[in-house]
Amino acid sequence: MKEKTPGEIAVDDQLRAAGAEGAQWLAAAGWGPPVTVPVQKAARWQQEVRARMLAAQADESCTWCVHLLDGGPQPVVVHAEHPTHLICRACSVAARPHRPCLDCGKPAASASPLDGREDVFMGAVSIYTRLRCRACHRNEPRNGTFGSGS
Ligand SMILES: [Zn+2]
Ligand SMILES: [Zn+2]
Repeated sequence: MKEKTPGEIAVDDQLRAAGAEGAQWLAAAGWGPPVTVPVQKAARWQQEVRARMLAAQADESCTWCVHLLDGGPQPVVVHAEHPTHLICRACSVAARPHRPCLDCGKPAASASPLDGREDVFMGAVSIYTRLRCRACHRNEPRNGTFGSGS
């Protein structure tokens, strides 16, 4: 087994801490404990978002909000409708009223996670989220991760 350098171990620890911080933040935001799913078992939208995000990182077309460049590692939020742009938690919350439905592209009009029309998955560091509008959610109601699904 390859020995890790102290630098690599420190990065690992920081990423783990960022992941734990993300999980705590999700719980504190009223979303309950995050759903952690092995990639193979993740929903199709999440696998696609993850694949596009990793591809964008690989070819360096990936973009970030400015806040992610400040300070140490922190949880990263990936909006399913724009997987090549990584944002901080504050920007994700601020963007919610303007986010589109992932299924039809119309405004999702979701004011809070409690309407049950958002699906959130927690990766090692990244938080993946998709929103759907009321009509699309009604067509496939079982996929809401949090909230009552009204
Ligand atoms: Zn930000
Ligand atoms: Zn829709």
